[in-house]
Amino acid sequence: MKFRAVRADKSESGQDVRFAEMSADELMEGDVTIRVTHSTVNYKDGLALSGKSAIIRRFPMVLGIDLAGIVEESARPDFAKGEEVILNGYGLSETHFGGYAERARVNGDWLIKLPAGLTRAEAMAVGTAGYTAMLALMAIEREGLSPSAGPALVTGAVGGVGSIAISLLASKGWRVIASTGRASETGYLKELGAAEIVERAELAAPGRPLGKERWAAAIDSVGSQTLANALSQTRYGGVVAACGLAGGMDLPATVAPFILRGVTLAGIDSVQCPMPRRLEAWTRLARDLDRGKLAAMTATIPFDQLFDAGRRILRGETRGRLVVAIE
Ligand code: NDP
Repeated sequence: MKFRAVRADKSESGQDVRFAEMSADELMEGDVTIRVTHSTVNYKDGLALSGKSAIIRRFPMVLGIDLAGIVEESARPDFAKGEEVILNGYGLSETHFGGYAERARVNGDWLIKLPAGLTRAEAMAVGTAGYTAMLALMAIEREGLSPSAGPALVTGAVGGVGSIAISLLASKGWRVIASTGRASETGYLKELGAAEIVERAELAAPGRPLGKERWAAAIDSVGSQTLANALSQTRYGGVVAACGLAGGMDLPATVAPFILRGVTLAGIDSVQCPMPRRLEAWTRLARDLDRGKLAAMTATIPFDQLFDAGRRILRGETRGRLVVAIE
């Protein structure tokens, strides 16, 4: 059986990433084979599609860090033919063939049954970005914080992680301060639940080791100076969940927020996150995420438009979430 996939091969000039026809016997090892119906475009997918990143760790590789589909063959008792499943991370597009393909064969230990109440398309509208936003909220809550502690900052607000983080925080009762470089999207951010907008440039500029205490919690997709400023303006005992690097990988900060205000910096990793925490995140997403807001932040693109979407997400031009209709 032949199927279409986005494959990266090593080339003399670096990486050659393009649509390719593949056959089932080229699929990697695994005990569950899936007919993939939907995938997504996350920032990391944009990097991999560019053919210039270090995300891919073996060649050839099929890209796509997320997938949703229907089990076609299973050697396991816990996944039956015809069952709907989703998968985020676990090395997809790095060391194992990912979701930009009409077929995937994976280790069943990585799979989650489609959470009750979500369609496959909705689960991919959430995707790695939305599941990461929930992991960040859970990290904030693990430190004992609730909306009574003060406002929550969300950086990279118009992006995928940012949009879902705003929606989740607002529906839990948090007053959300959204930081964006796109003033034209103020209306969109307020519809999602943002109460206040901060200009991206204000947080991207070098700041003092300790600033005025402005928020009790933060979910940061940007990193670099923005993360440093998020930390330095966090209230006593607050929590900053760091999940991204859209603005840079460095962290030009001081220890002042930690040792003088007891601020916690919580690292968020979606890729190797243990299964019990994943299941908790997805159960909560299926239960709590406002479907109207999810629809408002999501655009669906055909498989053919993937490379264009990848370029747009790297330029910071996409809004919210992108679902890829694979079939
Ligand atoms: P998006 O591109 O959808 O969102 C990123 C947002 O960051 C943009 O919409 C923009 O928001 C802002 N931004 C973009 N470029 C810059 C810049 N140069 N300086 C400051 N802000 C910028 O990406 P995702 O939501 O998919 O991912 C966000 C980040 O989180 C990425 O770095 C990604 O790699 C990371 N991530 C990490 C995960 C993990 O496991 N830790 C999982 C998922 C994502 P605006 O226009 O509002 O300013």
